[in-house]
Amino acid sequence: MFKIALTAGHYRYTAGKRCLKKLDPNETREWVLNNRIANKVEELLAEYEGYSLLRTDDRNGEKEITMEERVAAANNFGAELYISIHHNAGIMGGKGGGIVAYVYGKTKNPVTLEWQKDLYDALIKHTGLKGNRATPLASSNLYECRATAMPAVLLELGFMDSATDVPVILSEEYANSCAAAITEVIVKRAGLTKKPAVQSDTLYRVQVGAFRVKKNAENLAQELKSKGYSAIVREEQK
Ligand SMILES: [Zn+2]
Repeated sequence: MFKIALTAGHYRYTAGKRCLKKLDPNETREWVLNNRIANKVEELLAEYEGYSLLRTDDRNGEKEITMEERVAAANNFGAELYISIHHNAGIMGGKGGGIVAYVYGKTKNPVTLEWQKDLYDALIKHTGLKGNRATPLASSNLYECRATAMPAVLLELGFMDSATDVPVILSEEYANSCAAAITEVIVKRAGLTKKPAVQSDTLYRVQVGAFRVKKNAENLAQELKSKGYSAIVREEQK
């Protein structure tokens, strides 16, 4: 059973974290974008088995859960992977940007670096939001990556103040593609298997006998009907 900790960065009322007004008149909040993708990852993973997943945030975004609380929950859960979903800022209305995947700068765990690269590669393959970052496979002293006891990757899924990224990251299609990419990597690396399809249109019929004398067949059918079963006599040529 592979254990995953998943978190959508921030919460509904985090100050500041939102799309630049001149690029998005609605000033969509970062949490909304983060949570949409986290929810979609959960939905896609629900088709698979072989894992358990803990959301360390509040899916409704109403309650502020600190980074310390999120990390502690993931550590207590014994997660084998921590994914934190965010959206970036820092371009101030300029162009470019793109996806960046962060790990803790001093990590010595090669598995962490494999998750980072696989997630980044899949995200670029599915979304095309490559951007212009010099180091899209980035390392940093981010608390969520540093204090987690398991491989942890913090994904910055585009810039909320980039004229290039904003129209893309607001779209439902982009969120779907990000979720598909993240799910694809988890399924592959954790070896998850698809849940068996429910065979609701298959019938299993019971045959109870065949007679050369028609009356004997009718008698048996009558007996079965008297016990509440459905029974028919069907003629067959040998
Ligand atoms: Zn963030």
